[in-house]
Amino acid sequence: MSDKIKVTIDRDECILCGACWADCPEVFEEGSDAGLSQVVLAYQVGGDSAVGEVPVDLEDCVTTAAEGCPVGIIHVGDAG
Ligand code: SF4
Repeated sequence: MSDKIKVTIDRDECILCGACWADCPEVFEEGSDAGLSQVVLAYQVGGDSAVGEVPVDLEDCVTTAAEGCPVGIIHVGDAG
């Protein structure tokens, strides 16, 4: 059981609706490149803005964001 939650975003398919960074600004933000959603720098893994590992106490936050994404491109899972 990991104490981190893995989060990935299929950024190429982001439609810039803004729901995820409204629902969970602790983890998601508008990207500085094309404005696509990205994982905030503090939780990025390997400098990849599409991949993050977040503390378990943010699980509800990222799950809410994942469920609220209208195109279903936020994935949440045990980081192992
Ligand atoms: S909720 Fe989904 S589509 Fe909307 S900004 Fe976030 S990742 Fe992009």
